[in-house]
Amino acid sequence: MGDRKPYVVLVTGSRTFKDWRTMRDVMAAIVTEHGPDRVTFRHGRCSRGADMMADRLARQLGAHVEQRPADWDVCAGPNCTPPHRKQRGDGSTYCPGAGLHRDAAMVDDGAHECLAFIDPCAEPRCRGKKPHGSHGATETARMADEAGIHVRRFPEPQPVIDRFAGPYEALSNFARIPVTIYSQLEQREITYPTSEHAFQAAKTLDVNERAKILAEPEPKDAKILGGQVTRRPGWDEVIRYKAMRAIIVAKFTHDSPAGRVLLGTADAFLIEGNRWHDNHWGDCRCGRARCAPPGANWLGRMLMERRAELTTSLHHHSQKDDRHA
Ligand SMILES: [Zn+2]
Ligand SMILES: [Zn+2]
Ligand SMILES: [Zn+2]
Repeated sequence: MGDRKPYVVLVTGSRTFKDWRTMRDVMAAIVTEHGPDRVTFRHGRCSRGADMMADRLARQLGAHVEQRPADWDVCAGPNCTPPHRKQRGDGSTYCPGAGLHRDAAMVDDGAHECLAFIDPCAEPRCRGKKPHGSHGATETARMADEAGIHVRRFPEPQPVIDRFAGPYEALSNFARIPVTIYSQLEQREITYPTSEHAFQAAKTLDVNERAKILAEPEPKDAKILGGQVTRRPGWDEVIRYKAMRAIIVAKFTHDSPAGRVLLGTADAFLIEGNRWHDNHWGDCRCGRARCAPPGANWLGRMLMERRAELTTSLHHHSQKDDRHA
């Protein structure tokens, strides 16, 4: 009761943010917990989006508001040099670093927590890897994180797994997980040491070329050989997707360790992140301009599709079991 310490909440967010209900719910919960007269919502006073909404909601909830407008006229940022100033339509100039400078100062002043309401970046000229959050708010949340301020993000970001290594190595076609595929050509099942072997072998209808690929100990060598075989007709158009799909179905089952790894990714977004410029099956992160647009990520998408199938059939199994019980 006698505790009158203020509770400071740093609010950051996108200018495009519109979800009043979410913001109201989280701000109201804070005010209920700490008492309206003790809570201060600090924001950057943008006239649109999250700042404007937070300002209005804070007042409705009876809490304190601390506005921290950026000073666009004065260059005060650590990286400010006069030539970097930009010109407005009316000929006057402003400091493009002022927003960031203000955000850094808001973080520096400390807060008990930070609420980040971040929409995807909507800047038409942005060349960054999409999707990513709007820049100013993303950077503010990152600085707050770094300063040890607890950051809550809304909407809660979907987790992303974009490295098929470590605990997720099984998702990689190079993982040392044998897969058994029925070969129409040879009328028998063939077990390949990795998915990569199976995929490369599927490129050709030449049984001898397939046997050579099968005999390669390393998946990377299987891949090189696969680049030299006589391609079967229709490979690029449709067969390669069917082949990949068949391999994924064979590899990821309810009973297989790989299947359990896939199911363990829950609802994470899967991206086959790579650095070898494969923007078809995955998404290259080499940093070059050519690879900046998002990759088609066909492998990641097929894995998520397979995961959905396994999840659905798990559900069916348990329903059936219930009926029989
Ligand atoms: Zn400046
Ligand atoms: Zn952007
Ligand atoms: Zn690349």
